[in-house]
Amino acid sequence: MRLILLGPPNAGKGTQAKQMVEELKVPQISTGDIFRKNIKEGTPLGVKAKNYLDEGLLVPDELVVQIVNDRLDQDDCRNGFLLDGFPRTVAQAKALDSYLEKNNLNLDLVLNIHVEKDTLIKRAIGRRVCKSCGATYHIDFQPVQIDGICDSCGGNVVQRDDDKKETAEKRIQVYMDETQPLIEYYQSKSLLKTINGEQEISQVTDDIMKEVKENFQ
Ligand code: ADP
Ligand code: ADP
Ligand code: ZN
Repeated sequence: MRLILLGPPNAGKGTQAKQMVEELKVPQISTGDIFRKNIKEGTPLGVKAKNYLDEGLLVPDELVVQIVNDRLDQDDCRNGFLLDGFPRTVAQAKALDSYLEKNNLNLDLVLNIHVEKDTLIKRAIGRRVCKSCGATYHIDFQPVQIDGICDSCGGNVVQRDDDKKETAEKRIQVYMDETQPLIEYYQSKSLLKTINGEQEISQVTDDIMKEVKENFQ
């Protein structure tokens, strides 16, 4: 099963991906997580990517495509994958198409999580992430049990720099300019299903799983 989670920043892609991988038994591939890990570890990729993340801009396509292709080549992707945050430009989508074609694979479904801008800003400002394991929380909608401490690993829970209001708004603008065209791109391939991402987390998951089942069985 090869799926893409499409949607603006803070729509809930990562949150839903975590639920989905448990049921679908395919790996979640989050380009944002890959970049943050490399930045934390100070790798050459991290050094190249850091400024773009800080500014809320997209990392150049060549860099992103290469890391995704390498990731998709790994054994655990043989039975499928769930892409979270990739592709984000038409050029990335075309690069993914040629990777799949070369490997005789096809995409099964693109889930477009739709959320209005006001909600996205609220989700960004309240989002907190664990510095150690990357788990995601929200101060109002998905709070930790003990203030500042990750429920699952005990690490420190902090706000991402790019979730401050100004950068969050910038990222939404970048999404509208560069990523939104993918809705039409995948619609024209009859792969797109739109999900109402304004609902409660569990309801969004139910709607997603319903689409997945309808398209696979
Ligand atoms: P994305 O991966 O699309 O950027 P996340 O999954 O990190 O988004 O979610 C953004 C923030 O919104 C997080 O703080 C998360 O806890 C919260 N969130 C996610 N889905 C919902 C929802 N359906 N209702 C309320 N808050 C949500
Ligand atoms: P969100 O879902 O909240 O936008 P991500 O964690 O997916 O956040 O992405 C964080 C940042 O990582 C982006 O603002 C961008 O700088 C970079 N990034 C992630 N994925 C891509 C991609 N496919 N193409 C270009 N840049 C990316
Ligand atoms: Zn943690």
